[in-house]
Amino acid sequence: MSLYSSRRSFIKKATALLAASTSGPLIAQTSLSPSPVGVVLDDLFFQHDRIGHPENAKRLRVIDEALTQVNLWKQLTPVKGRMAVNEELLLAHSQGYIDEIELLSDDAPGFYNQYQQDTYINNHTFEAAKMAAGSNINLNLAVYDRQVDTGFALLRPPGHHALENKAMGFCIFNSDVIAARALQQKRGVNKIAIIDFDVHHGNGTQDLTADDPSIMAVSIHQHPYWPLTGGLDFTGNGDAKGTVVNCPFHKGAGDKTYLSVYDEVVHKKLEAFKPEHIIVFAGYDAHWQDPLAGHQMSVLGFNQLVEKCVDSAQQLCGGRISFSLGGGYNLKPLAECVTGTFHTLLGNPEKIHDSIGPSPEPEVDYSVQIEKIKKHHLG
Ligand SMILES: [Zn+2]
Repeated sequence: MSLYSSRRSFIKKATALLAASTSGPLIAQTSLSPSPVGVVLDDLFFQHDRIGHPENAKRLRVIDEALTQVNLWKQLTPVKGRMAVNEELLLAHSQGYIDEIELLSDDAPGFYNQYQQDTYINNHTFEAAKMAAGSNINLNLAVYDRQVDTGFALLRPPGHHALENKAMGFCIFNSDVIAARALQQKRGVNKIAIIDFDVHHGNGTQDLTADDPSIMAVSIHQHPYWPLTGGLDFTGNGDAKGTVVNCPFHKGAGDKTYLSVYDEVVHKKLEAFKPEHIIVFAGYDAHWQDPLAGHQMSVLGFNQLVEKCVDSAQQLCGGRISFSLGGGYNLKPLAECVTGTFHTLLGNPEKIHDSIGPSPEPEVDYSVQIEKIKKHHLG
């Protein structure tokens, strides 16, 4: 049996189990006790693809192969994927933009912006992006309803740069904001925090929630760097002031910086905000071998960061936390980071394998910047 067929059989089995349970449960009902960790993956996520582009379907294939190699698929609970309906997409985007993506997808292949050519669109993009958003809603409902303890949506295309009216940075629909608002709408959840540790600033998430005091948008990122937003000054508008928490660092920030700023700033902001649910935009492009940025995280560092996010959720919101896939463009560290995240969520951090090790360059000391960020956000 090939490695790839193992993932395919996982999806096939999950689909069959879920088809048999149409009365509402979001997870497959089996005679075995379900894993506490949910996973969502759909074939459509592989169909949005463009050869030669860094955000391509191979990213998911290597993750699939890595999870197969360490026998992780059978330790996870499949969560039902589905396409978001139009009303759900409207939780973050305008009707005009949704229609534009549909038209461009019908007319594909091409780019959202012919002059920038960063965000590609093919014939499957509209459906894949709707599947990403809807599946992320289902995963978050499954976590919130305690059908699983935690979960990871292995979705593509990603969403954190997507604005109300604009695609950018490989992102089409902002699946995390859509899932947060869907939880508020469907379950009456009040406060939700979105933690974004992708190396790029989550400008879409910030923009969509900047006026909304019920959603805290945290982003740790390289700055100044693409998309050039995410400086310290902006913390939200009006009633939402204090709910945008940017933690910007020049190049060379690594494990020590990310873990320290999490303890010194992020966890404390979360403590004060008191979220009822946490969504993590898990981008792994701050890894030192990533070709698209200049930070120096290691596989082990990422997983310590994941552990800290889980600890915050356990302390603040009964452990309710989900992860959705962000960046990560060097395939080997990406696969090891995602595998490690699952080991962490399963409570087996000792199984995390970092075959790459830490950056050979010494980490830049950002303790002064961390103090500055702390003073800015916490006074
Ligand atoms: Zn990124």
